[in-house]
Amino acid sequence: MAKDKNWHGVPRSEVSWYPIIDYSKCTNCGLCLLSCGSGVFAFATKDGTYRVYSPQSCSIGCTTCQRVCPEDAISFPSNAKSLVKNLIIKYKIYPAVKNELQERLSKYPDHIVNSSSTVEK
Ligand code: SF4
Ligand code: SF4
Repeated sequence: MAKDKNWHGVPRSEVSWYPIIDYSKCTNCGLCLLSCGSGVFAFATKDGTYRVYSPQSCSIGCTTCQRVCPEDAISFPSNAKSLVKNLIIKYKIYPAVKNELQERLSKYPDHIVNSSSTVEK
């Protein structure tokens, strides 16, 4: 059995954030698999289709595969928008987020910059 992942302390199994493929629209182009950096999709040799193989690996808040799908065949659970907000409130994740940020910035000091703006207009 796969080990449960977590999102800032929230068990990943409690978060319904994952892509759903509508196979009546899907043309089997494979862009979803190529565009996902989290290993959510797999190619099923049994029927030659791309499948959501590891839904709990989906990065919460990401919708890249949905946006790149040329057939508009990918959707997310209908409550996805309010889901994240509700989790933040229910699990009071900010202390965990603060700790993770400190760890991240210690590990990657190049994420700390002197300038307040890095985007040229
Ligand atoms: S990107 Fe869309 S059309 Fe292409 S394989 Fe994935 S779901 Fe199907
Ligand atoms: S939403 Fe992002 S992380 Fe999740 S399956 Fe699609 S591309 Fe991968």
